[in-house]
Parts: sequence; C-alpha cells; structure tokens
Amino acid sequence: MLFAHDTEVSLATTAALINTLPGASNSGTDELVTPEHLAAFLDRFEFTGSRTGDAPELAEMRALRPRLRKLWTGDEGAVVQLVNELLREAEALPQLVRHDHWNWHLHATSATAPVAQRAQVEAAMAVMDLVRSDELSRLHECAAEDCTAVVVDLSRNRSRRYCDVGNCGNRANVAAYRARSAASRKAAASTQEISER
Ligand SMILES: [Zn+2]
Ligand SMILES: [Zn+2]
Repeated sequence: MLFAHDTEVSLATTAALINTLPGASNSGTDELVTPEHLAAFLDRFEFTGSRTGDAPELAEMRALRPRLRKLWTGDEGAVVQLVNELLREAEALPQLVRHDHWNWHLHATSATAPVAQRAQVEAAMAVMDLVRSDELSRLHECAAEDCTAVVVDLSRNRSRRYCDVGNCGNRANVAAYRARSAASRKAAASTQEISER
C-alpha cells in the first residue's frame, strides 16, 4: 500500500465521480444524470452519511465534477490552491473516526453535511496527502487521445497510463499491433519490390 487506506479509497471514489462526465465514461455520455444514478454511485462507494436524494443534491454533485477534475489536470501550485479552497469552503475539521467495517480513518465533515460537501472534502484530503508526499504525478489523464477520463496510478513503477473505464489500454495495444503489422507488411512488400527488380 502506497498511501493510507482512506486516501486510496477516496482517490478511487473521486476519479470515478469525475469519470461519469461525458467523454470520460464508458458509454461516452454523462452517467450522473438522475437521482438513481447518484444513489447507485453513493452505494457503490459506500457513502455512509445522510442523503436527501433530491434534485439540488444531484446538481451539487454534478457541479463538483469539473472542479475536482482540476485536481488531476492543474500544476502543483494550482492544485494546492484548490485543495485549500475546497477545505476552507467546507470548514473542514479533521477527526479520526471508526464506523461500519472501516477502521480508524479521517473525516473532516460531519455525517450530516451535504453529500457534495463530503465528497469535496474527501477529495481534498486525499490529494493533500499526495501533495505532501510529492506524489501528485500519480494523478493524470488517460493517455488515449479520444478519452478524457482521469487515472489514479498506484502502481509501484508508475506504469499506469490508461483509464479503466473505456478499455483504453486494450484499444491502444490493438492499435499498436495493427500499426506494427502494417509496417511489417509494407517492409515485406518493399523487400519484394527490390528483389523483383
Ligand atoms: Zn468514514
Ligand atoms: Zn481512457
């Protein structure tokens, strides 16, 4: 494990939230449109506090996405500023807590704070950890040209280039294979031309 467990969980959760944006999602369309989408997302990532399930809650979560995306795309100075802003806005107050099957971890908002505020603070706290360890480079955009998904690279050798939403790694492998075999066909054809001369 590279970082504290709650940091890694928060990064995965935040990336998944950002990757519901159109262009990043599996379907290519916005995947956070209905209250049902949001409920499924919150269940999947085990958000434990209160929820309203209403339109404002959904709107806040939707609006949070492009903002959090800047944590992946900004330079260090911009990210630091944004992290501080996200924490200050929510009046974050870090506390050690233990609940459900989660052992000691950090919460910096109350369980009754709005969902978007909790998601915002969770993201900021996790990225704070990366900045402090000088590991911000582990957050980047997917290397596939037509994909805007964000990636959390927790691999030991920092080898993760593609997202896990669009099957981009496989697509890139196939494209590279095709390019290689096209090149070798061409090479074979020109060798033949030369020998026929
Ligand atoms: Zn918790
Ligand atoms: Zn991708």
